[in-house]
Amino acid sequence: MLCVTWKHVFTVILLYSTCASGQEGYFWHITDHHYDTTYWSEMRSCNDEVPVRGIYGDYWCDSPWRLVNDSINAMANINRNVDFILWTGDNVAHIADQYTNETYVVHILRSITDALKAAFPGVKVYATMGNHDWYPSDQFPVDSHSLYNATADLWKDWIGDTNQVENFRKGAYYTVKTTQGLRIIGLNTNLYYTSDKLTTDMTDPAGQFAWLEEVLKNAKTAGEKVLMTAHVPPGFHVPGKVQWFYNHYNTRFLDISRTFSDIIVGMFFGHDHADGFKLLQRHGGSPGVPIFMAPSITPWRFKIPDESGDPHNPAIRLVKYNQQTGVLLDIHQYYMNLTDSNRNNASDWKIEYKASEEYGQTDLSAVSVDNIIKAFKTDKSLLDKYIRYNTVLANGDTTVNACDEKCRAEYNCAFINMNEISFDSCYTTLVGGSARLCSSSFLIVLLAIIYYVLF
Ligand SMILES: [Zn+2]
Ligand SMILES: [Zn+2]
Repeated sequence: MLCVTWKHVFTVILLYSTCASGQEGYFWHITDHHYDTTYWSEMRSCNDEVPVRGIYGDYWCDSPWRLVNDSINAMANINRNVDFILWTGDNVAHIADQYTNETYVVHILRSITDALKAAFPGVKVYATMGNHDWYPSDQFPVDSHSLYNATADLWKDWIGDTNQVENFRKGAYYTVKTTQGLRIIGLNTNLYYTSDKLTTDMTDPAGQFAWLEEVLKNAKTAGEKVLMTAHVPPGFHVPGKVQWFYNHYNTRFLDISRTFSDIIVGMFFGHDHADGFKLLQRHGGSPGVPIFMAPSITPWRFKIPDESGDPHNPAIRLVKYNQQTGVLLDIHQYYMNLTDSNRNNASDWKIEYKASEEYGQTDLSAVSVDNIIKAFKTDKSLLDKYIRYNTVLANGDTTVNACDEKCRAEYNCAFINMNEISFDSCYTTLVGGSARLCSSSFLIVLLAIIYYVLF
């Protein structure tokens, strides 16, 4: 006779809860280390006078080795037991091509690869190349190349699949499955970056789009969920409305992603050097795919004659996710206060924020990110938080205070509008399109009167 006792019930509950908690995992997302080997000598990445160099770096310069290495040690100290690491590129510093060559690029990649392997033995790192991880900078070719080969050799243990290592040799893209069954797709979006002069007039550089569609089709048939990762993100960087991709690549990339938005659960990029997110909408406007840009390790700020970029505190990002569905559950953003760490001769990595607490959501699924983006439109203080985190607290409230209504409109539009027409339409609406329309109507009427009077 079957006899169900409290002991049985308790065992079932225990098994269920163990199983459920087993679905939560963590991974690191790190990006834009920009290691400057000349930090203590020629200071080639520094954009301004730096009379006293801090041991962990300076806001005008790229990272000294101490910062790069310290960030990796901090990751291991905070959480060594991650399922994998996403590493989205830009490891070489912002220094002129005349001071680099292929050997130099490989030396930088090897230094950071070795440091990650030493700190995280046995942990897979899904790495993608950044536009600075090349010689000459940004000029990624569309076919086999010795630099693709050298990088494939550095990362082949992590990729762990001969066919995919061969893909990497053709254009630095590949796909693998995590131990828990999620599909990772690592792309080379530097091929779509407007600074790559080799790919201006092409339709599918290195055949990456055709390959991506094939991989996504197969993933859909197999019932898999997908995380996509690359260096340069689609859409616009704001404020400033900078579109990194060539127009035709931006459109194609987003079209493919939209088609498979039922299986792509998240996208992860670097390049912006700023903490941010976007949301790819499905046709009809429902939430599709959340897109996350992690802040950089380098604190570097740009300087051109009439403009300077914001400083950034070095940052490392721990992501909590569901190992089976891939849905993001939280972002634990850590950072180093560069000024304090230099002053104290000791690095000070601490939590900057937990996204779930700051934005009041139980996860970071497409629907939750949609909720946050909608809340930004009416809750000024929530958008203030987002803007403050953009620079990883390096700029106090300067960035927030400097962001006027037009700047806020750019932020609000860039979250979901990833092509020029929809962005401009959104922006015109938010900054008083009706006023502009009135004045242009007035001009048309005035011209008509002049026409009738004269002719
Ligand atoms: Zn970068
Ligand atoms: Zn970049």
